[in-house]
Amino acid sequence: MPRLYESRKRILVTGGAGFIGSHLIDRLLGQGHEVLCVDNLFTGTKRNLDHLHDNPRFEFMRHDVTFPLYVEVDEIYNLACPASPVHYQHDPVATTKTSVHGAINMLGLAKRLGAKIFQASTSEVYGDPHVHPQPEEYWGNVNPIGPRSCYDEGKRCAETLFFDYHRQHGVEIKVARIFNTYGPRMHHADGRVVSNFIVQALQGEPITIYGDGSQTRSFCYVDDLVEGFIRLMESESDVTGPINLGNPGEFTMVELAEKVIAKTGARSELVFHDLPADDPKQRKPDISKAQEKLDWEPKVALDAGLEKTIAYFDNRLKELAAG
Ligand code: NAD
Ligand code: UDP
Ligand code: UDP
Repeated sequence: MPRLYESRKRILVTGGAGFIGSHLIDRLLGQGHEVLCVDNLFTGTKRNLDHLHDNPRFEFMRHDVTFPLYVEVDEIYNLACPASPVHYQHDPVATTKTSVHGAINMLGLAKRLGAKIFQASTSEVYGDPHVHPQPEEYWGNVNPIGPRSCYDEGKRCAETLFFDYHRQHGVEIKVARIFNTYGPRMHHADGRVVSNFIVQALQGEPITIYGDGSQTRSFCYVDDLVEGFIRLMESESDVTGPINLGNPGEFTMVELAEKVIAKTGARSELVFHDLPADDPKQRKPDISKAQEKLDWEPKVALDAGLEKTIAYFDNRLKELAAG
């Protein structure tokens, strides 16, 4: 039977109650699609979806992707996985299970339905890289047994599963390697550097630099990232990825702290703590593939994105203080 609305799809977003997933859902609903959000609320929160309460095209299901899921959808975005080191190291076995069993279940679902499936992979597959900036061809330098391994190796194994389901079962896959992303709805206490620095600055507390702060990261504003997701999902079927999505602007953690202090007008001092084990020294995406295959590149500079994120946290901290 022909579909009633040919261009309206029913789209599953796992991890949709999280930071990036909730922005993706806003975008998909804005395009007129139906969205089923599946999330076990481990790090995500229904607050990120509160504004969708009355939208008849939105549905929420509390479910853990490490268990099978039988639903009917046209496309799948698989984002379920804790993303900040504090969260993913809290229960490392659950983190690996989420990436690996979660990928198997969502790929099994995609295979049964003949649905296209997107995987939120990560720049962490490059580990502490010896090649800089990182192109997709680089195989990475990952410690298989360290405290970050549950996340890095879980995501690497998920990529293996995606490519094997593609080769073995013909599943249409879209694998994005996401570099550090920030913006409104990051969890205020998840320990990531952008949220930590902004919250510390707004509260007039010292800014915690791990190590000497010379390590670098490249920060992508969430709206740019979501645009990249959609373009990848809608790309020709031979574009499987993996494809880097991130902002090539590269900053040291001291530079980031100085920007946050300047923009908040905070009087915070910098305090130096030990560098966590296996913390990558540098990270910057080579995005030539995304430019060529998706005609995509980030538009929001760090300064502009930080201003929006600071405004969000300013408001959020007031809400938290008011109880
Ligand atoms: P987040 O923690 O805000 O969101 C992750 C969501 O997944 C949460 O809502 C959480 O409750 C849910 N989840 C976790 N385990 C689950 C399970 N077993 N079953 C169902 N739901 C589960 O993190 P985020 O920053 O929004 O990241 C989203 C995705 O993007 C993750 O897969 C992450 O690895 C990937 N990623 C993020 C970044 C970044 O900088 N934010 C960088 C690289 C990759
Ligand atoms: N699966 C699921 N939903 C589906 C189809 C499959 O959750 O609609 C899960 C199921 O747990 C299965 C896994 O995906 O074990 C892998 O599916 P696949 O068909 O590849 O393998 P098999 O069923 O043979 O284990
Ligand atoms: N970092 C820091 N202070 C903090 C939190 C993080 O200096 O309060 C550092 C951390 O050691 C790393 C970088 O900032 O070098 C990015 O950390 P984050 O946890 O945001 O992401 P990831 O390490 O996964 O890239």
